Amino acid sequence: MIPYGRQSIDESDIAAVVAVLQSDFLTQGPVLPAFEQAFAQRVKVPYAVASNSATSALHLAYLALGVGPGDTVWTSPNTFVATANAALYCGAEVDFVDIDPHSYNLSADALAQKLAQAEQQGRLPKVVTPVHFAGQPCDMAAIGELSRRYGFAVVEDASHAVGADYQNTPVGCCQYSDITVFSFHPVKIMTTAEGGLATTKQAELAQRMMQLRSHGIVREPEHLLSPSPGGWYYEQQSLGFNYRMTELQAALGLSQLTRLDDFLAQRRRLAARYDVELEGLPLVRPWQSPEGRSSYHLYPVQLPDSIDRAEVFAQLRAAGIGVQIHYIPVHTQPFYRQRGFKPGDFPVAEHYYQGAISLPLYADLTPQDQDSVVLQLKQLLAGR
Ligand SMILES: *Cc1c(COP(=O)(O)O)cnc(C)c1O
Repeated sequence: MIPYGRQSIDESDIAAVVAVLQSDFLTQGPVLPAFEQAFAQRVKVPYAVASNSATSALHLAYLALGVGPGDTVWTSPNTFVATANAALYCGAEVDFVDIDPHSYNLSADALAQKLAQAEQQGRLPKVVTPVHFAGQPCDMAAIGELSRRYGFAVVEDASHAVGADYQNTPVGCCQYSDITVFSFHPVKIMTTAEGGLATTKQAELAQRMMQLRSHGIVREPEHLLSPSPGGWYYEQQSLGFNYRMTELQAALGLSQLTRLDDFLAQRRRLAARYDVELEGLPLVRPWQSPEGRSSYHLYPVQLPDSIDRAEVFAQLRAAGIGVQIHYIPVHTQPFYRQRGFKPGDFPVAEHYYQGAISLPLYADLTPQDQDSVVLQLKQLLAGR
């Protein structure tokens, strides 16, 4: 089976992890801060806080911004459930903003309309979390403008967008947001097996996320509430978690970071090849915003209503092509229906979902494998 996504691990990655195994620290050593620093430098931001998943990074981000009971977080229905779930972990409510039919990202126009209504009802969100779906940057300038006007914070879910650019700046530099969150799950652009990372320009937010990542414990003398009685002393100042990334993961991340430009070049080359090869077929290829450059975590195509997506999906899978669907709109999940959402609430995301199929795309996808994906699609869709 050709999967829809997978990691690329080479000898240098393996050597980096083995070196940590032979070192003094398997966790809480020097490699993690080195990885954080290198990542921060890469996306041109002062602070990076790594964690054991993007889900935990989202949780830390929301907590650092003070999200709690009585607050609402708005996000896109076209995302992985974790984006919304992390707000519920904080005791907050979740609501959604429908997507743009071309970018499949949270629509800034729909957001503006919903905000105007919410202001009248006194129900403005505490945080809005746009998701850079497939690696395609959201309309951050418009979202940033709305955040200033209505006073909400912005968390970018950039789980798909490691290495993407927006207005010639790296996603993660937080030009229009408070915090940006990345995922290093193996299907994503680069991997630490499991892992995530949050970037910010605000020292205080970085400090809070670092504290909450490790039980709410503080050791730095300048941040203690009482004078230190000795070298053993620490204070638990808040209720945190164990969301730490290990040294093994950080070493893999540091090594993968040196390969990131290759990964991106490969993904963009393969995406451009799909763009050419799929021309003329009855499907919509991914749209590229003129304001950005996608990292191409996914290559989602949209089939027209006249074609049975389930049948195409099943036949591709039967032919050994591991296509996947991104995403079942979060508000239609049983858990979210129990919370009052229903089909029809966010029609653009639901319509997109009906026709969506993500084709295999990853750095090590061979041209031969890509050709067989294209061939199968052509045979299935020819004459439709
Ligand atoms: C993968 C993903 C997450 C969760 O990432 P983990 O590292 O697996 O916790 C969150 N949001 C989006 C959009 C994702 O694709």
